[in-house]
Amino acid sequence: MREPTVSIESQVEQFIGWLRTKKLKVTQERLALVREVLASKGHFEAEDLQIRLRAQGRRVSKPTIYRTLPLLIESGLLRPSFLTGERQTYYENTLGDDKHEHLICVACGRIIEFTSERLEEALVEVGRKHGFIAQKRRIELFGLCEYCG
Ligand SMILES: [Zn+2]
Ligand SMILES: [Zn+2]
Repeated sequence: MREPTVSIESQVEQFIGWLRTKKLKVTQERLALVREVLASKGHFEAEDLQIRLRAQGRRVSKPTIYRTLPLLIESGLLRPSFLTGERQTYYENTLGDDKHEHLICVACGRIIEFTSERLEEALVEVGRKHGFIAQKRRIELFGLCEYCG
């Protein structure tokens, strides 16, 4: 799928710098979480991070995870990739980001990523028409995949 184009450690350094400029604490817990986020491929939930960290013998508390994820989003290393029908948010890191969108099967939970040049062009066009400068985007289609439909 996507291969990181920048090294994890340089991103960790960048995040440490960002925490310092915000006068936020740089803790081992936080850094362990950041490394796990950056090493994660594909989509994951906050709970997945905790499970994976625990499997590595690292203890990162739930409050730390839920406090740190928004910081990662704010610093640009992470993005909420989509919301499923329920409350869950899935995340994906922004390494090797390629601006893809998501099709989400509401029956089996399958996630299909797609890109479309025509969609890109259409979005630029829409922005121009309304004099709008987009800063974030989220395009999600919910429905049934080819196996469930
Ligand atoms: Zn399905
Ligand atoms: Zn994705």
